[in-house]
Amino acid sequence: MIEAAPIVAKLAIVGAGLIGSSIARAARYTDAARHIALADADSDVLDAAEKLSLADSYTPLASDAVQDADLVIMAVPVGAMAVVAGEMAEAMKPGAVLSDVGSVKNSVLEAVAPHVPEGVHFIPGHPVAGTEQSGPAAGFASLFEGRWCILTPATGTDPAALDTLSAFWTRLGSKVDVMEAAHHDLVLAITSHVPHLIAYNIVGTANDLETVTRSEVIKYSAGGFRDFTRIAASDPTMWRDVFLNNKEAVLEMLGRFNEDLTALQRAIRWGDGDALFELFSRTRNIRKRIIDAGQDDEAVDFGRPHSS
Ligand code: NAP
Repeated sequence: MIEAAPIVAKLAIVGAGLIGSSIARAARYTDAARHIALADADSDVLDAAEKLSLADSYTPLASDAVQDADLVIMAVPVGAMAVVAGEMAEAMKPGAVLSDVGSVKNSVLEAVAPHVPEGVHFIPGHPVAGTEQSGPAAGFASLFEGRWCILTPATGTDPAALDTLSAFWTRLGSKVDVMEAAHHDLVLAITSHVPHLIAYNIVGTANDLETVTRSEVIKYSAGGFRDFTRIAASDPTMWRDVFLNNKEAVLEMLGRFNEDLTALQRAIRWGDGDALFELFSRTRNIRKRIIDAGQDDEAVDFGRPHSS
């Protein structure tokens, strides 16, 4: 346990899934908030969170959880952010910091901003950390340790509010970066969104094949396919919302991807081994740089096994 004064007196988290429950666990572990209030519209999720003792208070209503909260974090799917913000707008106290963890930032900024009451500081955020699991049981306190949390404040954001939010994520173990929402969406399109789309696509293609049986696909999956299936097992609601809300950036990156894929197709057709070897050498080096940067380890399964 870290011996330090809490960053905020009351933290309210709306959405008790993988990310919301991990924030609750990490905030408790690091003593980042004196009181943690958890809200989720789904009564089964809320019951599960209570059984796991994730917070100090539980409610189905976001408007109850945010009463007197100094920091409010929306941890619901991107498509639900505006609804949640609207539900709790009247109940937030002046001076409170409002943030979110959505994987897309520009659309959240645009959808939530009209609901933010005078005196509340809205700063969108995105912890670049997660797994393919969902729900409160899947969360763990160390999820954010050593991972980046990107904050995308609009111009004119109160510096003290930004300091509070940065200090909160730093306390949870994250490294904090600040950038424009549109730039975030472009960066994440290539590092996260397009890779997920490719995984969904290749697993779907394998499932539709007629010349190779499904049992063979499962049986010989260790040849690379298995690692795509982990990503393609990610939450359908969350990822539907990501693609609906980061359309332009994803389409731009997909255009680049398709061009490069066509070049690879040509290299294979014409037996251009040098081109293939050169690309595969470059990509192996990128993997090494990710490991060197502490963003993964060399263990199999993406270094996924962890203590909770
Ligand atoms: P999750 O495990 O499915 O949790 C989301 C929770 O929010 C669910 O319990 C859901 O209930 C609840 N919810 C949905 N609409 C709500 C509403 N209107 N009011 C109150 N609660 C509501 O999802 P997650 O993985 O934690 O993702 C949450 C957010 O984090 C998303 O915006 C996602 O883009 C972002 N994110 C995810 C990851 C990741 O790897 N998973 C990483 C970084 C950021 P129901 O299940 O009943 O709908």
